[in-house]
Amino acid sequence: MFCLHMWEIFTTFAVQISTYMTIHPESEAVLRSRTLIAQAKHIVITTHMAPDGDAMGSALAMWHWLCKGERLEVKGERSVDVIVPNAFPAFYNWMPGADQIKIYEKDANGCNALIEQADLFICTDYNDPKRIGALGEKMMTSKAPKIMLDHHLNPTDFADVMFSFSDACSASEVVYQFIKANGDQLDWNGATCIYTGLMTDTGNFSFNSTSCDLYEIIAELIRIGIKKDEIYNAVFNQYSMDRVRLTGYALYRKMRIYPEYHMSLITLSADELDQYHYQVGDTEGLVNMPLQISDVYYSVYMREERPKPGTPKPRIRISFRSQGDRPVNVWASEVFHGGGHMNAAGGELFGSLQQAVQLFEKTMAKYVLK
Ligand code: MN
Repeated sequence: MFCLHMWEIFTTFAVQISTYMTIHPESEAVLRSRTLIAQAKHIVITTHMAPDGDAMGSALAMWHWLCKGERLEVKGERSVDVIVPNAFPAFYNWMPGADQIKIYEKDANGCNALIEQADLFICTDYNDPKRIGALGEKMMTSKAPKIMLDHHLNPTDFADVMFSFSDACSASEVVYQFIKANGDQLDWNGATCIYTGLMTDTGNFSFNSTSCDLYEIIAELIRIGIKKDEIYNAVFNQYSMDRVRLTGYALYRKMRIYPEYHMSLITLSADELDQYHYQVGDTEGLVNMPLQISDVYYSVYMREERPKPGTPKPRIRISFRSQGDRPVNVWASEVFHGGGHMNAAGGELFGSLQQAVQLFEKTMAKYVLK
């Protein structure tokens, strides 16, 4: 339905939406993006807010592929830049190319200049410009074509060429297949970035990771020479003491279990986060931990953000997780203005933590399978 509708409106619109993760080298979408990339002189790569390992990995792998890790603008050939909406966690600083990333929130003027001169945008790991905030608003004022490489459900029609595969484990998997479809090999830097995205978006291959194709990709990345175990250590064993203590506090003091619903709820207020000097990414993965308990199949985590100037109410960020045949995305979208996959979704509420918990308790019976 969606594809048909789009074809009617845009004659130049090339779309490859499929539930099977295959990118054909001669497909309309690949041919069109190949032409766009060949013609582009100033490419800007964007990825989502609060960048995670897959956002970083997919964007940086595209960057390495497009500029071979060199600053090509020095040679006068072309410029390629990665712009992220806000800061990424320090435990991704080691990623090859991370030091070249521009952060929109920190240097809007510098980034705006790059966006204004851009003649091509590459959009990885998000399905809607709203997911990248002010950076997205600025990007959408540009008429330059956009190529989207993503794995989230229900993309909006903002891009000129879309590679949208909701069964791919990560955007990094989509980027990998895209580069292959262009007949190219990844270099070591690109391969390292791709692996980081595959590893983090699957919880180190513990969910969304049953396809043989994924392990064939990993085999090839290892042949290229990536240091798989070092990547794991760089991402998962470099936490601050505050982060580990915050995790302990959350599990010991703040985890509520609703046995009849097989449900866990963790809430953290802005004050509590301050006590542990909360940094971006410090509670990444926390929502998965209650699922380690037998008989807990659902986990919800709420984090309070202080109100920003101009927004009177705090923002409660809500993460949903579940196991097996128990959808949480409908709950997230119908009650908490969010969405996502069956077992992993997100939402938000502008108000107090207490209001969020009340709404959670009031609606749980409707959306949770006992
Ligand atoms: Mn992702």
